[in-house]
Amino acid sequence: MLRPWNSRTPSFGALLEHECPRCRRPVELPLGEICADCRRAIDARARRLARLAAMLSTLALGIYVMLRVPRDPTARMVSGGAVAAWYLLTYLVVRRVLREYSK
Ligand SMILES: [Zn+2]
Repeated sequence: MLRPWNSRTPSFGALLEHECPRCRRPVELPLGEICADCRRAIDARARRLARLAAMLSTLALGIYVMLRVPRDPTARMVSGGAVAAWYLLTYLVVRRVLREYSK
């Protein structure tokens, strides 16, 4: 059977996998790829663990900031912004690392 003219898969069968290397379900994938369901499962797990890691480290940082930063309102406001930025950055970094290394 002829391939569609705009097919994005390679034209020779050697670069296609006929089953997902992770879940062994029969699908046609480019070499080295995993299926959409596995990708979704990995993303969900990465988001969950990243949220947990970010919350725990932010909690520790928040406690440290509450104990160590003087009661000056400006210092408190800047520290609060730093804690919020810490949460966001930790979440993004941990999620990215887990996505890349859990296949
Ligand atoms: Zn799969």
